[in-house]
Amino acid sequence: MKIVVMKFGGTSVEDATAIGRTAAIVAGRVAIGKSPVVVVSAMAKVTDQLLRAAAASAGGDRSGALAISSRLRSRHRDTACELVKNDAERKTLICWIDEKFDALDEVLRGLAAIRELTPRISDLIVSHGERISSRIVTAAFRERDIDAAHADAREFIITDSEFQKAVPLHEHIEKKTPEKLLPHLRDGKVPVMGGFIASNEAGLTTTLGRGGSDYTGALVGGALDAETIEIWTDVDGIMTADPRVCPDALRVKVISFEEAAELAYFGAKVLHPATILPAVKKNIPVQVLNSRNAACEGTRIISLAPRGKSPFKSIAVKKKVSIIDIVASRMLMSHGYLSQMFAIFDKHKCPIDMVSTSEVSVSVTVDSNSSLPEIAADLSRLADVKYEGKKALVCMVGDDIRGQNGIAAQVFNAIRHINVRMISQGASEINMSFMIDEDDADEAVRSLHATFFQNPDPAVFDVEARKAAIGG
Ligand code: ADP
Ligand code: ASP
Ligand code: MG
Repeated sequence: MKIVVMKFGGTSVEDATAIGRTAAIVAGRVAIGKSPVVVVSAMAKVTDQLLRAAAASAGGDRSGALAISSRLRSRHRDTACELVKNDAERKTLICWIDEKFDALDEVLRGLAAIRELTPRISDLIVSHGERISSRIVTAAFRERDIDAAHADAREFIITDSEFQKAVPLHEHIEKKTPEKLLPHLRDGKVPVMGGFIASNEAGLTTTLGRGGSDYTGALVGGALDAETIEIWTDVDGIMTADPRVCPDALRVKVISFEEAAELAYFGAKVLHPATILPAVKKNIPVQVLNSRNAACEGTRIISLAPRGKSPFKSIAVKKKVSIIDIVASRMLMSHGYLSQMFAIFDKHKCPIDMVSTSEVSVSVTVDSNSSLPEIAADLSRLADVKYEGKKALVCMVGDDIRGQNGIAAQVFNAIRHINVRMISQGASEINMSFMIDEDDADEAVRSLHATFFQNPDPAVFDVEARKAAIGG
């Protein structure tokens, strides 16, 4: 069996037209003898709206929350009606959708009375997005002669109980996923499941964190030893920068697992940062593809990508970052100081992105949504602490940056008009990052892009698309 896991993001299932395109792409894989497993996100923006409904309810705005739910109900019902023409199938599906929204409304009413939104309830509410989209997609596939079978991810994507950012329990997933999905595949069926959603060992619904459907795709691919994992999205692949920020970004044809992981971690939303690991473990190539332009070959992520002439492959930006300056005059040179400092971050489960030290001070960067005041309070027992938000981390990724002379000079020359607050270079061979004000980030990316992607290597980047765009 040539199993291919196909993950479709929110925009690839955003309405009936998009779901129709998705069905055609999957049918195309079946036609060439592949056995697809389809993982879908919630319809575009649904996750945000469900979170907004939850927040409204918890804030006591019961009618506001129910109004959001009612709009979502109509959107899902309308999409289902447009896609499923068979009367009996359509009626069953609409009834099922209504049942789910009735249950969701119950939760929202209860929440408005209790007014406490726990991570567990948040996951239950937000899971409706993928639970419902995956059912609609299954029915739409069947209508289009794809022998699809719905699979509930919560029966085999098992996690710990860290609601909202649950950690997969690989042993369970590796055992249960084939048990659930292989029988369908052997019968020639196409399993369709929701990404992002999972359950803990007690059967309570959890989620893998925002953007987590990519991660589901990779977990399923790993558990089934898939031939490839395909991430279908709304851009041509991994680009040299976020095309929304830099319109002349180029498609990267091939990139290594390491480079892609670094990009994802440092903010390239095109891939969830945890996606690469399950694929690396089994050496399964990941392909990023565009469901609106299926003919484009996308980006292939493989263990050893060919080395290009250009020093960098792509530029990522992580916004909403804070910097914490810890000035340790009181603790100067004292033994065990750094380990005590890191223990505080550990206690707050706060990952550090970048560190820079001098004799008496240490600066670290963290996500702004971490519990900064509490962390600062704990740190202030050790040293003087200051923190500042609204920063951005810019990360330049490419192979063997460490080995190239003059690269730092070129980078900082390109952004000489921008104030750089902190730098990290050399910690990794493939990444060079620095921190600037959030407001300068887009401009920095465009300047760096203009400098480093002026004469791109055609072996690594799709230069044809740029030529076509400028009529060359
Ligand atoms: P999906 O819903 O399919 O998961 P996402 O919105 O999560 O899609 O990710 C795709 C988006 O990622 C693109 O529309 C693009 O704006 C953004 N993006 C950020 N950095 C990059 C990059 N380097 N290459 C491609 N896309 C990027
Ligand atoms: N729907 C979820 C989100 O928007 C998961 C995903 O699409 O990857 O975060
Ligand atoms: Mg995504």
